[in-house]
Amino acid sequence: MALVAVHELLAKAEQKGYAVGAFNANNMEIIQAIVKAAELENAPVIMQASQGAISYAGLHYITGMVKIAAENTAIPIALHLDHGTDFEQVVKCIRSGFSSVMFDGSKLPLEENIKITNKVLEIARPVGVSVEGELGKIGGTEDHVTVSDQEAMFTDPEEARYFAEKAPVDSLAVAIGTAHGQYKGEPKLDFARLETIRSLTGLPIVLHGSSGVPDEAVSRAISLGVRKVNIDTNIREAFVWAMRKAMQDKPEEIDPRKILGPGREAAVELIREKIKLFGSSGQA
Ligand SMILES: [Zn+2]
Repeated sequence: MALVAVHELLAKAEQKGYAVGAFNANNMEIIQAIVKAAELENAPVIMQASQGAISYAGLHYITGMVKIAAENTAIPIALHLDHGTDFEQVVKCIRSGFSSVMFDGSKLPLEENIKITNKVLEIARPVGVSVEGELGKIGGTEDHVTVSDQEAMFTDPEEARYFAEKAPVDSLAVAIGTAHGQYKGEPKLDFARLETIRSLTGLPIVLHGSSGVPDEAVSRAISLGVRKVNIDTNIREAFVWAMRKAMQDKPEEIDPRKILGPGREAAVELIREKIKLFGSSGQA
């Protein structure tokens, strides 16, 4: 089927109380792994590309591969721009065929974030493209977006209410204790803050940096209104560890398919586990 908008997937998740997995699509094998896992679980999925993935693979390749993936399955698939920090990048992705974009203005002053998010809403709404906003600074490193631990600032619930009123996005990414990349210790999520933000905005909440968050914490966050859970680091780990093992087992192997194939298989298993955890199995 054709690509679907994220807000459509989240509306159904909202009704039934689960979350949709948003998996970063960095290459063909990972895209295929996401589709296979989604088919095996009969679950809707969001494939997302960061600006880093776009500059690595090329915008046309990312859009082309994900469109082909969607057209060849009955599973609903959305294509989302992860952490668009640049208005021009957002426009290019919409024009290329993305069904959803994130405008990450979290580093900007609040009013500036609201202003540009509204510019994005103005061009996205008429063509049915979903918009995710961000408020608060999520710790860690994701491609070029780096926020040091000191700077990492949790989302202020009152600001979130104001933001949602002034820039009526489809979903809101919040900073409640998760971080991008690999965790040094066990993350502690601020559930009370999540609950307050959710009740003040009424918006589906997006959890970034969810790799390495304990399963119980993810489930609890979903019970409190998280409807999109982003997973990138766990896929990278599963993929690369399997590739590394394949190379160690057969150091003389020169066929890239024999190295990438095991990575793809490991990613399928990891993504299936996440889909089950998010409660979206059987919801396609
Ligand atoms: Zn993120």
